[in-house]
Amino acid sequence: MNPLRLLTFYKLIVIFIGSIFLITATANLPRQIFGWEFTFFLVFTLLVTPRMSIELPRTGIFLSFSDSVIFLSFILYGGNAAILLVAVETLANCLYLKNNGKRFGKLMILFNISSAVSATAITYIAWTFFLNLSGIDYKSGAVIDLISALGFLAIAQFFSSSVLVAFLSSILTGESAWRVWKRDCFASSMTQIAGAFLAGVAYGLLIYANFLMTAIAVFVFGIIYVNYRQTIKNINKSIEQVERVEREKAEIAGLKAEEAKAHAAELEILLAKEEQTSEDLLRSKNALEHAAFHDFLTDLPNRTYLVERLNLLIEIGIEISHKYYVLFLDLKRFKNINDTFGHRVGDRVLKLIGKRLQRILRREDTVARVGGDEFAIILNDLSSIDEAREIADQIYEKLSSPFMIDGSKIYSDLNIGIAPFDVEHKKPEDILRDADIARHHAKETFCGVGVFDKTLRALYLEKLSLEADLRFAVERGELSMHYQPLISLKDGELVGFEALLRWRHPEKGFIPPVKFIPIAEDSGLIIPITKWILRETCSQIAEWQKLSPMYRRLLVSVNISGRHLTEEDLVKDVRQALKSSDLTPSSLKLEITESAAMANAELSIKILNGLKNLGVQLSIDDFGTGYSSLSYLHRLPFDTLKIDRSFVIEVGEQGENSEILQTIVSLAKNLKMRTIAEGIETESQLAVLQNLGCDYGQGYLMSKPLPKEEMEQALYQNRDWLPMLKMESDPTASENSPEKSLPVF
Ligand code: C2E
Ligand code: MG
Ligand code: MG
Repeated sequence: MNPLRLLTFYKLIVIFIGSIFLITATANLPRQIFGWEFTFFLVFTLLVTPRMSIELPRTGIFLSFSDSVIFLSFILYGGNAAILLVAVETLANCLYLKNNGKRFGKLMILFNISSAVSATAITYIAWTFFLNLSGIDYKSGAVIDLISALGFLAIAQFFSSSVLVAFLSSILTGESAWRVWKRDCFASSMTQIAGAFLAGVAYGLLIYANFLMTAIAVFVFGIIYVNYRQTIKNINKSIEQVERVEREKAEIAGLKAEEAKAHAAELEILLAKEEQTSEDLLRSKNALEHAAFHDFLTDLPNRTYLVERLNLLIEIGIEISHKYYVLFLDLKRFKNINDTFGHRVGDRVLKLIGKRLQRILRREDTVARVGGDEFAIILNDLSSIDEAREIADQIYEKLSSPFMIDGSKIYSDLNIGIAPFDVEHKKPEDILRDADIARHHAKETFCGVGVFDKTLRALYLEKLSLEADLRFAVERGELSMHYQPLISLKDGELVGFEALLRWRHPEKGFIPPVKFIPIAEDSGLIIPITKWILRETCSQIAEWQKLSPMYRRLLVSVNISGRHLTEEDLVKDVRQALKSSDLTPSSLKLEITESAAMANAELSIKILNGLKNLGVQLSIDDFGTGYSSLSYLHRLPFDTLKIDRSFVIEVGEQGENSEILQTIVSLAKNLKMRTIAEGIETESQLAVLQNLGCDYGQGYLMSKPLPKEEMEQALYQNRDWLPMLKMESDPTASENSPEKSLPVF
């Protein structure tokens, strides 16, 4: 059955039974009890007892005087009066509680009255049986009888009322009635026992004591009660206070717990943040570490990383490191790529080179970017230098193929040096230097890949010492200019000189230009040296032009290195030299080798046009030794084409092997350029060139390059530079025309 319905049903049954008991009790109420005593009892029960109950501190037990009154009425007026009184008392109690705010459920007041009535009725029945069976007469004056009767009353009342309440509770909570009785009702037995005790005392007083004694007893009880009530109140108050303090403590503890919880949460957030921060720190530390050992552009390992690896290999010892090889790569003329296509494209080329290298090499190899256009590689665990060479050749081949960037084909040229580990290598720089020496060798010999050997090192060291000396050669006055005449092959007229640099080393003596010019170019010293040459030669020619009207149009041809040609400053340097010497620009000719002009043709066109605008003449030197692109050749603003000595040497005594010369001369004519042949040593070479229509010539046949003093003397003497020409046209000429001296002016 639905618990609510069961509850209602249970209440109705109890109400029904209670009503029957009440009606029966009222009907059987003995008439003689009605009097002022019973009326007082009724009024007392109705008005006073509900207000007199005291809650025993911390027990939940109420010491109710109603129990005492009921028990007293039992022994004074019998069970029926007690039933009536209990009904009245319960009603009064409920109303009193209701007035004080207690809320009662449906039928609850009626149920309370009925259950109290029923319990008292059952007690009455049981008590009657008990008295009859036991023969106890509590009115006899025997205290023991009174105690037994009251004790039984208390127990019976306790059981009957508690069982009814336990059932109700059990329906309400769904727990077993026994469990509820044991837990909630058993303790209330004390109420009944105390009530019975009080009833006994009251009965004793009423029956056996006189008025004075009763008054004194009531007075004493009154004081005790009031004191007790006050004490209980105080106890309750202090308990309440303690409880309040405890509650407050608990609240504070709760608050603290909340705070601690909040703190813990905050701490957790802080810890998470700290964890995040330390993760970030770790990440930035890793990034820093990565940055410290990697190149920012290509993301390849950098020099620091490479040096560490090399250090390790040196420390391990030659027994293991002899299987390792170091490659040094340098991109030739990378600066030209930057100058022509811009740094952005230059960067992309470097990145692509890094990627190509990584693709070629094995995982265990190390490739690092160690400079702007320099890379170094450690090849691991190879069986011989041939294997290293094979890999280097492969790299050379792959990196020489052009890069396509933004639709432009970009060529990068390179040199590679290979160095094996050696016991002599004490630090990373040693083996890197050897690989670089091998690279230098590859560059000088145009073979792309060079392998280190110790003779190369000796040469390199000599080169280094020469470079160091060359730095101070200008200021020490060790450099000087020699002048080699340029002769018109048509009429033998002196048209000017090629200025050729000479270095007389204080200890090593004369050092040939082929040896020190490349050093000057590599080190960049060629630029300040050329500035000096320009100043020196321009003022020299300006001076010589003044020697005689016939020398007024003499020109000087100055060699400009490829390194200088990539500098915008060249135009400025030439302008300054012309200005300071006051030389007519057309009296200055600049010689640029074919290979230098073609290395970066676009840039060359730009700078050469700048020079041309100054009014100077331009000559392409050593023509035939480089790889001229015809499409560029006609765009380069050259006035003259200088045929390389190697083609002139080929011409034999009978004029054989002149086909190439012929081709070059006709090419120059088609390009509207004058031709100069250098290295003319024999008359047959001269004759061939004259026959081919070559405009000018230069060579030992006419004169070796001479120091300025000697050349000046020759000028004063108005030397005939091509006597054989005159001999051919007039065999008496040599006899009739001795060298005539120029008047000095
Ligand atoms: P180059 O510009 O082709 O100079 C011509 C070279 O041929 C000179 O050698 C000259 O002495 C040599 N020569 C001329 N006629 C003959 C001949 O009939 N027979 C032989 N065997 N040689 C002849 P030099 O002076 O030793 O210069 C060599 C190279 O050094 C020059 O070749 C040039 O490229 C470079 N050089 C010389 N002086 C300078 C300079 O002032 N600046 C620059 N940048 N380079 C220079
Ligand atoms: Mg030259
Ligand atoms: Mg030359």
